Amino acid sequence: MKLNGTMRINENGHLEIGGCDTVELAWEFGTPLYVLDEMCFRQNCRDYNQAFSEKYRAGVIYAGKTLLNLAVCRMVDEEGLGLDVVSGGELFTALKAGFPAERIYFHGNNKSPAELAMAIESGVGCFMVDNICELELLSRLAGEYGRVPGVILRVTPGIEAHTHEYIKTGQIDSKFGLVIENGQALGGVKRSLELENLHFKGLHCHIGSQIFELESYRHAAGVMMDFVNQLHEETGARVEELDLGGGLGVYYTEGDQPRAVKEYADVLAGAVQEKAEQYRIQAPRLLVEPGRSISGPAGTTLYTVGAIKEIPGIRKYLAVDGGMGDNPRPALYQARYEAYLAGKMECPPAELVSVAGKCCESGDMLIWDAELPEAEPGDILAVSCTGAYNYSMSMNYNRLPRPAMILVRGGCAELITRRESYEDLIMNDLIPERLTKKANT
Ligand SMILES: *Cc1c(COP(=O)(O)O)cnc(C)c1O
Repeated sequence: MKLNGTMRINENGHLEIGGCDTVELAWEFGTPLYVLDEMCFRQNCRDYNQAFSEKYRAGVIYAGKTLLNLAVCRMVDEEGLGLDVVSGGELFTALKAGFPAERIYFHGNNKSPAELAMAIESGVGCFMVDNICELELLSRLAGEYGRVPGVILRVTPGIEAHTHEYIKTGQIDSKFGLVIENGQALGGVKRSLELENLHFKGLHCHIGSQIFELESYRHAAGVMMDFVNQLHEETGARVEELDLGGGLGVYYTEGDQPRAVKEYADVLAGAVQEKAEQYRIQAPRLLVEPGRSISGPAGTTLYTVGAIKEIPGIRKYLAVDGGMGDNPRPALYQARYEAYLAGKMECPPAELVSVAGKCCESGDMLIWDAELPEAEPGDILAVSCTGAYNYSMSMNYNRLPRPAMILVRGGCAELITRRESYEDLIMNDLIPERLTKKANT
């Protein structure tokens, strides 16, 4: 068991988050319910600011794809971080929340002309350009609007990090970025320097997600700095900013051993500085784009246990009122989670159960083989570390309405995303005239 943020066990033996009893939250707001621990989210932002911005010449950009709604945008703004968006929808959300456009960074490998125009018009500070098509399109649109947006070119350093190891791939095969090794990245930089409507600011790479191995970051930083030096020598271009992406791993289950943000910062900044000294060039300003490590541990999902079914000698299934609709990660990539019975936190584990969702898919299993106290229908099951890539990946399969999200802090719980209603589900449905149900026929 790992209790994140303000999680604790209260006098009633219940799981408490942000000073709120989660059993009561489930009763008050219904389930499934996303619970976001405000102080945990903010503390994670502060840890990054302290480790990077206050200690090094560095900036922290929150990866909005992990969790984004209006309230989250407000918190990220208040904590002084930048914000990565990857679509018109995310950009719209940020702008509606009043997030300063100059601190927004626009990512994505296929931004549409409409999305780019929207971003230029609203004054987005910087574009992470993925490919040459985008570079030309952005330059043309920027000219039309009379703007000169900042550009950071995404490149692939030929390193791919996995959870416990990383591989150096010679020939990089990725839908993201321009390859350094075959000269495409160099070509991209040269082209961006030629385009007068763009201000070339620097380079970006992102080597993966849920990474525990800091050595892979050191390696990536080194390869990027080698390229920075090559650019300097061959084009005279100065790389003002070096964005090394996100990806720091978090604790989901036993075996996950997250590294401290401070260590991560020291490794990245150290590697960049070392290479800068070696090449006698000025070190670029470092940027990082943490997502999961900020939002993940701040989220918990509450479910109500429904049907319990034991197949003697095989397995006991415990079905909950949500599943792959609100958390597609286990079905998508065998992601593992830990769960608690929120009202029985002091009861010892009594049985091995598997937690099933309620969707019509055999693959809709949230957790295989969880050790829990004896469960009964009506118990509240809390799945921890669901802040990242849960709500943001949620869907309406089987026409299940998306859950509500509440923000908890100091014993106070506030709704920040309304629960979808059945009416919401049919809101965009239309019936052609010839299919309308005619009266009296
Ligand atoms: C997904 C992503 C991130 C965030 O990754 P986490 O593993 O959630 O920290 C940052 N930058 C880019 C470009 C990404 O694609």
